[in-house]
Amino acid sequence: MNYFEYRDGEMHVENIKVATIADEVGTPFYLYSSASLIYQFNQFKEAFGDLDLLICYAVKANTNQAVIKTLANIGAGADVVSEGEMRRALEAGVPPSKIVYSGVAKSSTEMKFALNQGIYQFNVESEPELFQLSKIADDLNKTADITFRVNPDVDAKTHAKISTGKSENKFGVPWTSVQDICSKAAKLPGIKLVGLDLHIGSQITELDPFEEAFTKISELVELLKKDGHDITRLDLGGGLGIPYEGDDFPPLPREYADMVKKVVSHLGCQIIIEPGRFLVGNAGILVSKVVYVKKGEEREFLIIDAAMNDLVRPSMYDAYHGIVSITQSDEDSKLYDVVGPVCETGDTFATNRLVSPMESGDLLAIRSVGAYGAVMSSTYNTRRLIPEVLVNKDEFAIVRPRPSYTEMIALDKLPKWLSK
Ligand SMILES: *Cc1c(COP(=O)(O)O)cnc(C)c1O
Repeated sequence: MNYFEYRDGEMHVENIKVATIADEVGTPFYLYSSASLIYQFNQFKEAFGDLDLLICYAVKANTNQAVIKTLANIGAGADVVSEGEMRRALEAGVPPSKIVYSGVAKSSTEMKFALNQGIYQFNVESEPELFQLSKIADDLNKTADITFRVNPDVDAKTHAKISTGKSENKFGVPWTSVQDICSKAAKLPGIKLVGLDLHIGSQITELDPFEEAFTKISELVELLKKDGHDITRLDLGGGLGIPYEGDDFPPLPREYADMVKKVVSHLGCQIIIEPGRFLVGNAGILVSKVVYVKKGEEREFLIIDAAMNDLVRPSMYDAYHGIVSITQSDEDSKLYDVVGPVCETGDTFATNRLVSPMESGDLLAIRSVGAYGAVMSSTYNTRRLIPEVLVNKDEFAIVRPRPSYTEMIALDKLPKWLSK
């Protein structure tokens, strides 16, 4: 479902005109649709039918409180990778009993916090982490339910910077040493081994890499059961891709779920899934205004008021995002390079892109930016973080306001010797 549609030639989000919101909020800003978040979650959930399933939204994709709460209200748990994310998830109403904690470098302070909150499980990534967690849990007189993150050495066939399941990646325990580490874990105080987990990468658009990895991890579960471990959970991570271009079609949730059921249901484990991008990616656009149209010698540039510091995906991952005028036009589209104001050549959203003819002051939308958009933004070039706005049917709310320059500069503190 697309909740960002043109009506009478004007882009709407659910029932509200984008231009109306832009008038009130000012550009640039992120704009999310509640209906889209809910639709994606329900689509995913329904695809799995009556399988014993816990969907833990990978909050790193979009940590806005309003986004997490929208999903928590319809039953989502959370996959978190830091104490900060855990606090955000708790604050937004995710019960600790639905929080799983991933990440290669959990510190002892973070472990203590998580143990005291009573989270559902720790996804442990290495032997030193295992020993550290055992010690801390034992000191607190608590038991940590853990899974080991398996590195299955599978090529996710995605961008190298978001591939995480190859043996050369820093993530997880090599699949060949999983049995060994599990027998160590079984002897440790404060630790209860409950299962295995994996996460092989992001924006994966084929089922094969998933199936290969899930098959490997299922075989490991069977071996561990034979070794006498009480394995009751299997966490399959996130990574399901979304369409960014008209012509790429990642697997549908139903196809993904059918494959999962085929590969793992005989194990009788509770299945945990950690989707991030799938839930939020297509639920957001970035609304920006054309500042200048500049005719270069070879190219025509649309210089817009959003920049790489607001949305880094194009410069960081060479990511493709659809760019459209929020007003439909009968005129033929033109080729533009769409660039931002930051002093870097990498501050380019698209080159040679067909967009309907635009003039200074016109509004455009960069599509599919709900995931890894606002969360990766910075204040480079002393640009203020841009607001986030959430639509719900006929209403909208600013769910993160634009800070003032005063607030931003006041974050710096002068040392004594410089302040008179
Ligand atoms: C990032 C991440 C996810 C979510 O990945 P998506 O591609 O956004 O679905 C899930 N699990 C872990 C451990 C992650 O690091």
